[in-house]
Amino acid sequence: MKFLTTDAPTFSLMDVQAMAAFHFGLTGQFKALYSERDQNWLLRCADGTAWVIKIANAAEDPGIIAAQIGALAHIAAVDPGLPVPRVRLSLQGQPMARVGAHLVTVLSYLEGDLASATARDPASLRLIGGTLARLGKALRGYMDPAIAARALLWDMRQIAGLRPALDHLPAADQPRFRAMLDHFQTAVLPKLAALRAQVIHGDLHEQNLILTPGGTAVAGIIDFGDLIHAPLILDLTSAAADMMSSPDRIEPILRHLTAAYHAATPLEEAELDLIHDLVLIRLAASMLVNVWRKVQTPDAPNYLLASGFGAVSVIDALVAMGRDKTTGIVRAACGLPAQPTVTIDDLVARRRALMGSHLYVFYDPPLHMVRGDGVWLIDAAGRPYLDCYNNVPILGHCRPEVTDAIARQSRLLNTNTRYLGGQILDYGERLTALAGHGLTVCAFVNSGSEANDIAWRMARAFTGAAGGLVQEFGYHGITEVSDAFSPSASKHGTIAPHIRTLPAPDGYRGKYPDGPDMAARYAAETDHAIAALAAAGLKPAAYICDSAFMTNGVLEPQPGYVAGVFDRVRAAGGLCIADEVQSGFGRMGTHFWGFQHHGVRPDIVTIGKPAGNGHPIGVVVTRPEIYECFIRDTAFFSTFGGNNVSCAAGLAVLDVIENEALVRNATEVGAHFKAGLTGLMGKHDLIGCVRGTGLALGVELVTDRRTKAPATALMHRLLNLIRDQGVLTGNEGAHGNILKIRPPIVFTRDHADIAVAALDAALAQI
Ligand code: PMP
Repeated sequence: MKFLTTDAPTFSLMDVQAMAAFHFGLTGQFKALYSERDQNWLLRCADGTAWVIKIANAAEDPGIIAAQIGALAHIAAVDPGLPVPRVRLSLQGQPMARVGAHLVTVLSYLEGDLASATARDPASLRLIGGTLARLGKALRGYMDPAIAARALLWDMRQIAGLRPALDHLPAADQPRFRAMLDHFQTAVLPKLAALRAQVIHGDLHEQNLILTPGGTAVAGIIDFGDLIHAPLILDLTSAAADMMSSPDRIEPILRHLTAAYHAATPLEEAELDLIHDLVLIRLAASMLVNVWRKVQTPDAPNYLLASGFGAVSVIDALVAMGRDKTTGIVRAACGLPAQPTVTIDDLVARRRALMGSHLYVFYDPPLHMVRGDGVWLIDAAGRPYLDCYNNVPILGHCRPEVTDAIARQSRLLNTNTRYLGGQILDYGERLTALAGHGLTVCAFVNSGSEANDIAWRMARAFTGAAGGLVQEFGYHGITEVSDAFSPSASKHGTIAPHIRTLPAPDGYRGKYPDGPDMAARYAAETDHAIAALAAAGLKPAAYICDSAFMTNGVLEPQPGYVAGVFDRVRAAGGLCIADEVQSGFGRMGTHFWGFQHHGVRPDIVTIGKPAGNGHPIGVVVTRPEIYECFIRDTAFFSTFGGNNVSCAAGLAVLDVIENEALVRNATEVGAHFKAGLTGLMGKHDLIGCVRGTGLALGVELVTDRRTKAPATALMHRLLNLIRDQGVLTGNEGAHGNILKIRPPIVFTRDHADIAVAALDAALAQI
């Protein structure tokens, strides 16, 4: 950002007259021209020639000036008809002269009108689009080391450098723009790297283009100050963005500018897909640069208004249009086939035929998601939704560190655990180090259900017992074993004969009210469950516990409850399994594992969902003696469990959690989020209770705070209303009246604020 703080040169007319005569042998009438960072003069000579004297900013890299001169010479050689300035040599035969700290160049002045002054009709837009493509072709073979090394504020790949400017936007705009930058950095930048790139002009808008009087032909292309080696498409998207001075200009520019460009230089599919994002980011960058300038030079004219670039109204209009519409307009204008559109109704019909009559999907109408991007899910219409529901992408959707690890490893090797390999050992050792408590052995599977299935078989083998204990309305998976531990999945309330349930330690509406002895009273229920097993001739082999008590409504049991259950189960000979599928990996903040919140030491830990951030991974971690007992009578092997790609994904997830201190983030953002939700209680009587830990949060909705009557009937509408606000949540609990919130733990306070505002707005409509 150095040019923003280095003043433009301020030579007097007499100085300039003297230097033009001394270095270039030029005399005549001088007129000052506007330049933001240099000092430019127009010189009309007696022989009828006209020149631009450019006195460069003292901070300008001489290599860059030389590169610009080289580019002009290259264009003149490759496409002599393209009207770019010609360089006048000094009396010493050099393309530039040095005057103090400044380099001076003299370029031929191109007569005509700035394109911005002529009619903005389709024909002008087509002229500009065609010229842009021709200029790109003329520069295609040019390269210069100074350009290769250039770091330019306007290079969208350096957008992170503009982040500090976000803090100076109006507060209401900040979350939107921050999210736009997040999206660009995580989802667009990696794709940009794969596009065709070359030296581009990078700044060809209406003020850098001169037309013949009448506007029928291009008379000049000027200002090569932003030359950069970058994806070619940026030439087009930057020009388009810079010309969108008002929302009504969006469509004509997309249509005519791109059509003419495409006719000369056919756009590639990957480029077409990014046009929407690249135009948007250029508009956002223009705003941020202007805001930053105002901060740096408060006395300067109000660029934000003066420049006309990056108007919020244009950005909002383009966002409202959505990527699909933008792409559709461009494709149609270029004569390319439209991307096939599928309707929700088509998808629902096909799904019913293929996947059974019961349509189990979220929301009404259901959402058709086509892309994930950090904390956002994007539907087929291009609308982004803030994901507060999905606990699997704990690092955010399509997290590049993980997708890269998967891609890299799948290109190299993906095989099974019957061969030796270092990766699985690295991954397993990381997990056992995190688990502690003598849990030093891993069994690798593919899902949480499988992990619990194997954990149960281990417990049976180790204890010789056959009874199981689980929370009423718990959920632990879909296999026959784990389904037996999932009373919440039973449609008829039946419980497997070898299972007994423990009441949910719910202080709000549970069996025992909140009070000093609540933990002890709930824990004592374990004795009854064990006695009930004994009555059927069974002993407990295992108790499975989800430390987040998610399906029970995201409970926060009192300290001592889980420990009290563990003690009783162990006294009866059973093992204690911590199912960390929901609660692990920092979800609850403060600790990596959920069980640490209860101060207990499990015998077995099971892992699933977030372990691969979307890639299927299941792991059972236990003590060696338990594992040895299990494999004494069975040959344990899972074809995909522990494959190289899964381990690469798993390692990448652990790295990101560690490197970005995400457990701490879940603690801090979770506390902020919970405070925001709790704050809504003052406004909305429907909220009976807000609870949860870290970024596992629950909001219990009641129609009457006194009777605590569950607001079950309202939940369907509420979830859809929150969805309409662009935020995804779900419901949970035996009455289905608990709003379940489990966002990626990369969530920021801004994201939490968006979600709280959405809930506020949705509740206000009920
Ligand atoms: N345990 C818990 C606590 C879960 O929430 C789930 C899934 N919701 C599972 C196990 C089963 O995991 P999967 O669906 O990967 O088999």
